[in-house]
Amino acid sequence: DISHGTILYLEDISVTFDGFRAINHLNLYIDAGELRCIIGPNGAGKTTMMDIITGKTRPDTGTAWFGQSIDLLRLSEPEIASLGIGRKFQKPTVFEHHSVMENLELAMAADKRVWPTLLARLTPEQHERIDGVLETIGLQEHRARRAGALSHGQKQWLEIGMLLMQDPHLLLVDEPVAGMTHQEMDRTAELLKSLAGRHTVVVVEHDMDFVRSIANKVTVLHQGSVLAEGTMDEVQNDPRVIEVYLGG
Ligand code: ADP
Repeated sequence: DISHGTILYLEDISVTFDGFRAINHLNLYIDAGELRCIIGPNGAGKTTMMDIITGKTRPDTGTAWFGQSIDLLRLSEPEIASLGIGRKFQKPTVFEHHSVMENLELAMAADKRVWPTLLARLTPEQHERIDGVLETIGLQEHRARRAGALSHGQKQWLEIGMLLMQDPHLLLVDEPVAGMTHQEMDRTAELLKSLAGRHTVVVVEHDMDFVRSIANKVTVLHQGSVLAEGTMDEVQNDPRVIEVYLGG
């Protein structure tokens, strides 16, 4: 019963590291425009799953499809990125010595050789795109600030903005609110919710209040497989999930 709008299919994926099954017959289906949260204890396989989607890790068995016809397992990491699959790691990596706006300009060009010309003259359309992303991430007033002078939260939003400059179909976001203040977390929730619909967003996150505030659908990973899937209320009341989180 795969919905017509499925954009990402992982089927029967397994990965073994030195004899250890990090991913064990994993099935995951993500609909286009969805905002999905992936939770699960440490070592559950969340990072490895993201690595498989981006081509960083190759599974031993299984299939991974993007859209109806693209076999991700046949593509290299850069090829997968060029399909419009963007990943944001937990730690923000912005160009600290460049302004907020310059960071967005640089993110527009995947080819680093064009950077000097890009910074010299932007087309009106490029200006418009940057303005649009600045508005989305709420950093209009900070466009001229050096990125290194931003708060932790602002750096995270800038990095999301840098991914948006590539207009990705699928955004993979790793623990976006780690180290954020409550206010920054609320702002991040609004931002991620605003991206869903136009983009598909998959978030790995440990903060359960945050997960509850953003996701309609939560996937619980455990020992490399999907343990439960549903609304936050459904999965939190699932005896298997309670066992895994509280049973040690
Ligand atoms: P999570 O992100 O949910 O904490 P991971 O995907 O990082 O889980 O890890 C799943 C399991 O696979 C862990 O037990 C981890 O130690 C192991 N693992 C992950 N990457 C490697 C690797 N490159 N080599 C060996 N073991 C690994």
